[in-house]
Amino acid sequence: MDGEIRVSIVKVSFVHNNFRTTGAINLSKQGREMKLNLSVRVTVMLLMLNFFVTAFAESPSGMRLYVLNSGSLSLGKGVLQNLAPMEPQIRIPVAMFVIKHPKGNVLFDTGNNDKIIDNPGYWGPNFAALKPVNTPDVSIESQLARINMTPDDITYVVVSHMHLDHGGNVGKFPNSTLVIQRDEIEYAMFPDEPFAGAFIPGDVAELRSGIGIKKPNAVPMLVLEKTDLDIFRDGAIVVKRARGHTKGGQMLIVRLPNTGTVILTGDAAYFRDNVTKSIPPNIALAYDPAGILRGYEWIRYMMASEGADFFTSHDPEVFKAYRKAPEYYD
Ligand SMILES: [Zn+2]
Repeated sequence: MDGEIRVSIVKVSFVHNNFRTTGAINLSKQGREMKLNLSVRVTVMLLMLNFFVTAFAESPSGMRLYVLNSGSLSLGKGVLQNLAPMEPQIRIPVAMFVIKHPKGNVLFDTGNNDKIIDNPGYWGPNFAALKPVNTPDVSIESQLARINMTPDDITYVVVSHMHLDHGGNVGKFPNSTLVIQRDEIEYAMFPDEPFAGAFIPGDVAELRSGIGIKKPNAVPMLVLEKTDLDIFRDGAIVVKRARGHTKGGQMLIVRLPNTGTVILTGDAAYFRDNVTKSIPPNIALAYDPAGILRGYEWIRYMMASEGADFFTSHDPEVFKAYRKAPEYYD
């Protein structure tokens, strides 16, 4: 994003200097207007060219998208989707994703905290309520091992949000850079009253440095101020801010060389139907309900404008159909 803006400014200043040089000659008013119009036209053309180069840059070969499994949860579908039944309960998957890029590996979401494998009490009443699968094979290390990676192989960790099933293992990547919105990390520690239950204070506390240290974060972080981020400056992996489900939510745009554009939604869309049939979520977990609907609209725009597909984290039918790591999308 920064790169795009810088390139545009260079082009504009080139045109501006060019005009100023010729403008020093005593041109007639008509001549000056013609020069100005030409300058504006050239600037617009250069900006458009810049846009097209950026928008349709080729994704680097060797990119891969892996789907990892952080277990599953049990709940009434109505908890997530408006007017859906609460009984019988359904089991929803908890997905994580790794994107391999020539310049580094990006993890999108960190799943349930692995502490619940040995210590279910870490989740308090959430453990009994959600009945998570907590076998060692769904730990983040076991899942990364399926693609011959360890946490140290991850360059950037991007969290869709800090709820217990997405931000659980953020503390396990001391050598990676966490990409998170400032309002999400603040809100996760101290949310409004109806929303506190889905954040685990211990998950957030692991990101905080020790007492007396001036730098607040214990791990490297890119704290975004209500903005998007093109991670490798090539349009291939772009963090998209998405306030809705939580205060500082994020989606991830992944532009793969063969598969094309895939949007990883996190909980900006729970089920495929939410987006394709415009079914609103249950308001119980919606920080900004209108923001969620705007998120659906944005996904549909991406589908229409660049043939994007989208991958949800919790849709049981969709998850069944994914290629699971070590298989991949390229
Ligand atoms: Zn979730």
